[in-house]
Amino acid sequence: MAIHLCCACGTSYPDAHGPPSRCPICEDERQFVPRDGQVWTTREKLARGHVNGWRQLETDLFEIHTDPGFAIGQRALLLKTREGNILWDCIALLDDATEAQVRALGGLRMIAISHPHYYTCMQDWARAFACPVHLHAADADWIVRPDPAIRHWHGDTLELLPGVTLLRLGGHFPGGAVLHWAEGAEARGAILSGDIVQVAADLGRVSFLWSYPNMMPLSAATVKRIAGALAPWRFDRIYGAFPGREVMTGAAHVVQRSAARYIELLQDDQP
Ligand SMILES: [Zn+2]
Ligand SMILES: [Zn+2]
Repeated sequence: MAIHLCCACGTSYPDAHGPPSRCPICEDERQFVPRDGQVWTTREKLARGHVNGWRQLETDLFEIHTDPGFAIGQRALLLKTREGNILWDCIALLDDATEAQVRALGGLRMIAISHPHYYTCMQDWARAFACPVHLHAADADWIVRPDPAIRHWHGDTLELLPGVTLLRLGGHFPGGAVLHWAEGAEARGAILSGDIVQVAADLGRVSFLWSYPNMMPLSAATVKRIAGALAPWRFDRIYGAFPGREVMTGAAHVVQRSAARYIELLQDDQP
């Protein structure tokens, strides 16, 4: 028996003798099945060929990223607060070195994840640190490896700890969420955004898509609603899904300007 992982999206499947016949996450139009078909690995094989690298992004925020890159290639962020640590988004690889490093930083009080593409091995992280995983209920159908640590939240906001709040923005996934951290960016406020708000190659822009690999947009109404939902929140910085993708300052304005330009492009007729 083994836990199998999809090499294209990093999702883990329940303990079984062999890999699943298909990966519904990849078969969805927001992902893709590789040309030569689905490839599977196990947690043990992944750990033999990969390591996690760490970077401190600011005083209480650490990035964890797998090298060489695996599956979608997102990072997880470890956020330290006075009330305990939160893992934002998740990655498949949890090796002994990573576990020891997280323990040295005080362990985990909880895990919260932006959307199903980053669920990966959340069950193993939750077990290792005896903590819950907060997922929005609107995406519950995408959980392919149920676990007692999973807690579903409802509605548009959830305060996880003082000054740390999940905001459901939807768009890319109905339950798509970002994390607002009031003390981030030297107390000017930060958003940890996953790819619900995607930090673009031009670090002064963000974007919003239904499908990133298949380049499918969201509607103007949805982008307007997302920008409107972020407008009341105070933040100066956005940490996106991938290493190096950060809007370092002026991020609230960047969101509003990027959303307005996106809507303009959807509505204009380009020559
Ligand atoms: Zn997959
Ligand atoms: Zn995604």
